[in-house]
Amino acid sequence: MKSVTVELGQRSYKIDLIDSLPGKRVAEIAHELGRSNHGRCLLVTDSNVGPLYAADTQEALLQVGIEVHTFVFKAGEESKSLETLHAGLDFALNHSIGRKDFVIALGGGVVGDMAGLIASLLHRGIPIIQVPTTLLAQIDSSVGGKTAVNHPTGKNLIGAFWQPCAVVASQAVLTTLDERHVRSGLAEGLKHAIIRSPALFSWMGQHAHELITCSAEETSHLVQQCCQIKASVVADDERDQGIRAILNFGHTLGHGYESAAGYGVLTHGEAISLGMVLAAQISHAFGHASEKIVTSITDALKELGLPHVPFSEHLPTMDAVLDIARSDKKGDGNRISFILIEKLGSPLIRAFDWSQIEEVLSVCQRRALEEEI
Ligand code: NAD
Repeated sequence: MKSVTVELGQRSYKIDLIDSLPGKRVAEIAHELGRSNHGRCLLVTDSNVGPLYAADTQEALLQVGIEVHTFVFKAGEESKSLETLHAGLDFALNHSIGRKDFVIALGGGVVGDMAGLIASLLHRGIPIIQVPTTLLAQIDSSVGGKTAVNHPTGKNLIGAFWQPCAVVASQAVLTTLDERHVRSGLAEGLKHAIIRSPALFSWMGQHAHELITCSAEETSHLVQQCCQIKASVVADDERDQGIRAILNFGHTLGHGYESAAGYGVLTHGEAISLGMVLAAQISHAFGHASEKIVTSITDALKELGLPHVPFSEHLPTMDAVLDIARSDKKGDGNRISFILIEKLGSPLIRAFDWSQIEEVLSVCQRRALEEEI
């Protein structure tokens, strides 16, 4: 079994990469944690993943003497809300999930973020095992301990840091993921490559077809590489006080696209793709990146079948994107800490006035319109 360790002292944990369904491995981990025999667990999942994979985990846990209570919520980003959080906490407490019990997140990034926040709040924090079932969640969201729900004023505004005690990334569950969500995961994969690994960036370009079709060998390699990158960034800055911000490359404006379009219209990865194109263009406009870097990033996204034309009549207007981006938690009044790219593998964290970003974006938009004509 391949695994990657997230080194965080007493809070260190392993990400296991397995081929089979996750239930058996999850039960082994629960046993190792001393949770078997009369233990109880809250399994959190969504309305798509639950019918497909909850039984595998429930049965495996029952076999090691763990009583499972399954909280299922409606699939989709709209559910990443205070209402669902409230319902999940009610469900857990009504089923007597106690301080010695634990949580399992079985699903994509939405389930992982929701279950993580539930685990962090119940009894001031109980353990959670993350079982990511989308490529995006395996590559990114299940690792690093960021949990959150959205607020009408912006994404992920209410949350906590709560590290899992283990992550089980199963290749088998990805067989039912639709291609759009595979591509969405590839966007976060490409982000990891852009900020930390020119070699991975070229490799993704060479294996775009295998990655889009979720071929087992290439996908497993990508998940492992990305988990290593994320683990090393998180180990250096668990609480997002400095270097961890590089993981937000493309996210400031990406979150703007995602919220402005209305949750569910663009996937998270699609929105981040557009945000990455703009982040590359802004890097170039401020003189940090060459035109060639902008083209490489744009072409790589195109190759992976991801949106790469940020100014389009089918997308929210730049004013709408900026309105939301300004209320993002990374902002500080009129200033924003923005992640730029110098060259592949070399991100930069720079503070700007929002007016500087707006000015540069209007020049980029004008140029894009001129090129169209
Ligand atoms: P998602 O959880 O909504 O999953 C996408 C869709 O795929 C859903 O409809 C889901 O039900 C379905 N699905 C999941 N697994 C499946 C499977 N194996 N087979 C068939 N269908 C399956 O979205 P996502 O793209 O996984 O995650 C996006 C979320 O992750 C966003 O809310 C984003 O903010 C968050 N995120 C968090 C972090 C973090 O560090 N915490 C990092 C990146 C993204």
